[in-house]
Amino acid sequence: MNTADSEEMMLALAARGCFICEDLNKADIVLINTCTIREHAEHKALSLLGRLRKWKEEKAGRIIIFAGCAAQRLGAGVRGKFPHVDIVCGAKSIDDFDKILDKSGLFGSDKSAGKSAALNSPIALVNIMRGCSCKCSYCIVPYVRGEAFSLDFDAVLKEIETKLSLGTKEIVLLGQTVNAYNYKGKTFADLLRAALKLEGLDRLRYLSPHPLFITEEVSEIMASEPKMSKHLHLPVQSGSDKVLKDMKRGYSSGEFLEKIALLRRGGINVTTDIIVGYPTETEEDFKQTLSLVDECKFGGAYCFKFSPRFGTPAFSLKELPKEEVEKRLDILLNKIKENAKAAYKAQEGRAERVLMEDPHNGRTLSNFWVKTEASYKAGEVVTLTIKKAQESILLA
Ligand code: SF4
Repeated sequence: MNTADSEEMMLALAARGCFICEDLNKADIVLINTCTIREHAEHKALSLLGRLRKWKEEKAGRIIIFAGCAAQRLGAGVRGKFPHVDIVCGAKSIDDFDKILDKSGLFGSDKSAGKSAALNSPIALVNIMRGCSCKCSYCIVPYVRGEAFSLDFDAVLKEIETKLSLGTKEIVLLGQTVNAYNYKGKTFADLLRAALKLEGLDRLRYLSPHPLFITEEVSEIMASEPKMSKHLHLPVQSGSDKVLKDMKRGYSSGEFLEKIALLRRGGINVTTDIIVGYPTETEEDFKQTLSLVDECKFGGAYCFKFSPRFGTPAFSLKELPKEEVEKRLDILLNKIKENAKAAYKAQEGRAERVLMEDPHNGRTLSNFWVKTEASYKAGEVVTLTIKKAQESILLA
């Protein structure tokens, strides 16, 4: 989501003649797009912001833009603490970034330069929803991004068409609960079907779905449409019904397993997110997470230690001892690694259509990374035979 927001802001800057500079000393503008989902991420962004004071003082006219979820959460307090920041743009205002730049008076009125310069990737991200109305007990997103709303159906399709016309091969539809999309009765399944018909599309993916909104209809589209990605990142967070209830996730482990069975029927590679050490998680709850992991055979997972976020219901709960959480995380990571290894191994010998993202690396339709010694153009779709599976990459 943040990458998509960064792209949107980058386009607004590119239209004003800005381009990406690899060297901070040569840059005139620094844009920090922040995440606040974990405390650590926010601290890192604020510490960078502090260090940039010196950078700003070294040359007149330098501009610092602080954007995203931490900017939303901290609001006006950012300017008070860091007076060297020129522009603050919270996550809820990303759609207005263009106007915010105009209002700042720091940029000229010419917006004709480099509109397409930022769109040279074979993969394009397209926001279809903003915000989230789920209110999981540990999550700060609804407070910084607001209630969920779906973007205009036709406008979304138009944006996809524009990106495809610029050479994009893969479209990734984005939303915090992307599969809950509903614009004036047009559902997520309707949007998938309409997008799949667009000329120039090679692949269609979506992020991040919520298990509650996985339907038979969408699973069927995923299974039967050759251009639909055969991978889904479906966050489970815990395998214990009690913890899932405490987290207010809205489903039980049994219901999650039913969704997995639906997806597996269509041969979908499922990866997930898991939170370890939620304050009410007992040893027994953790064991239930391990057994769910065994049952689901995830192709990979992002596992996180619980991070208390101020303003969320879980913030006031007593945290588990750090050593216990570390221990559980280690056990879980090893299990995930074992399962992922098997998923990668199962790809050996297969001939896969790979979308190249640079001359030597690309991804299969099931989202496995492939590395090859042969050289291709970024954006080329080639059929490669998988010779060997390594830990988290396939060699072709
Ligand atoms: S679904 Fe839950 S975890 Fe995901 S963004 Fe919404 S509140 Fe946060």
